[in-house]
Amino acid sequence: MSTANKPRIVVLGAGFGGLELTTLLSEAMGDGVDVTLIDKSDAFVFGFSKLDVMFGLKAAEAVRLPYNRYAKPGVKLLKRTITAIDAERRRVTTDDGVYDADYLIVALGAEYDFDATPGLSGTNEFYTVAGAERLRDVLPSFKKGRAMVGVCGAPYKCPPAPSECVLMLHDYLMRKGVREACEISLVLPLGSPVPPSPDTSKALLAAFAERGIKFIPSRRVASVDNARNMAMLDDGTEMPFDLFLGVPKHRVPPVVLESGMSENGWIPVNPRTLETKYRNVYAVGDGANTGTPKAGVFAEGAARAVASALIAKLRGSGNGTLYDGFGTCYIEFGGGRIGKVEVDFFSGPAPTGNYHEPSVALRADKEKFGSSRRSRWFGS
Ligand SMILES: Cc1cc2nc3c(=O)[nH]c(=O)nc-3n(C[C@H](O)[C@H](O)[C@H](O)COP(=O)(O)OP(=O)(O)OC[C@H]3O[C@@H](n4cnc5c(N)ncnc54)[C@H](O)[C@@H]3O)c2cc1C
Repeated sequence: MSTANKPRIVVLGAGFGGLELTTLLSEAMGDGVDVTLIDKSDAFVFGFSKLDVMFGLKAAEAVRLPYNRYAKPGVKLLKRTITAIDAERRRVTTDDGVYDADYLIVALGAEYDFDATPGLSGTNEFYTVAGAERLRDVLPSFKKGRAMVGVCGAPYKCPPAPSECVLMLHDYLMRKGVREACEISLVLPLGSPVPPSPDTSKALLAAFAERGIKFIPSRRVASVDNARNMAMLDDGTEMPFDLFLGVPKHRVPPVVLESGMSENGWIPVNPRTLETKYRNVYAVGDGANTGTPKAGVFAEGAARAVASALIAKLRGSGNGTLYDGFGTCYIEFGGGRIGKVEVDFFSGPAPTGNYHEPSVALRADKEKFGSSRRSRWFGS
């Protein structure tokens, strides 16, 4: 513990996990804690906004939530790039200063390993805001030929997102009046679109079939030959394309890899407490290997568990609550309709998913999901 009265809590990454964790600490403890939240970016962007940007439904500027609007008692949000993490000593080095922590939480998310898939960096992607903006400018010139959404490895963020992308692409091409001149296919390294929920997968497969979208399950894109416009799958199949939209292989950011905290690309944690093997060091969100999907709702659930453990420790009462592995995901089915699946990873022997039929009414739920976080974290 520090010599000062307030324990120093340092949270790395102001994404879904870091924002929720620090908000909860501030709500519970106010100025009674000394929380430092560090992120290299100027703004937070919801993952699902990237699809809106790509299809020209929203401007990139409109989906940015600038960090200068984040103000919470007890929390300092610093714009710094983290260059080293010493988990043993709970010491973090940045491009502007070194930060020592009594409690350290790594919430740096997942990054994309373009080099893991030869040829991928010469293609389009929609998993970053910059990639979604580029696609927004590329899509209008795609008027005929084969479009392919190809996932290069699992786990990847938001398991339904590639399925949402092909359904939204179908709508986009319909609006442009060129759908009949185009083919759409989806290559996914999962056996079904949403494995924990057979009902959701069945509904998505039916939606693909109705729209003539070809689905290739249990395969990943192993390399891309841009000279021949050909994607090579992991079973050696070659798939020609005219427009390739890639989802790169994911892993923790380089600074986490270099810290020695990760194993096989992810940080090992106790899935229920999010504790790492280092004393008073936790990992939440996409970077932590909990066995739950890499999605904002799960990052948020893990953050709730860590916040409750820290609050219990600081107050000297109880143990806090465990991470429940439960999350609600909204899925764009096209035609303005949204489906919903409630996934539960830890209650039973196997994950389960409770499916809600897509409807226009559920769009309001999805919008509330975003706006409630926006106002909770950013105050508007
Ligand atoms: C297309 C798409 C659609 C999605 N749709 C949904 C959805 O509908 N629902 C849902 O729940 N999830 C969705 N997601 C997933 C969701 O965006 C992520 O799972 C979530 O953001 C993970 O939260 P996190 O806190 O782990 O990491 P992040 O939110 O990624 O935050 C990590 C932070 O760490 C910072 N950082 C990284 N390295 C450094 C460094 N060296 N120095 C300083 N800062 C650093 C980053 O700037 C970032 O702000 C979607 C994702 C995509 C790509």
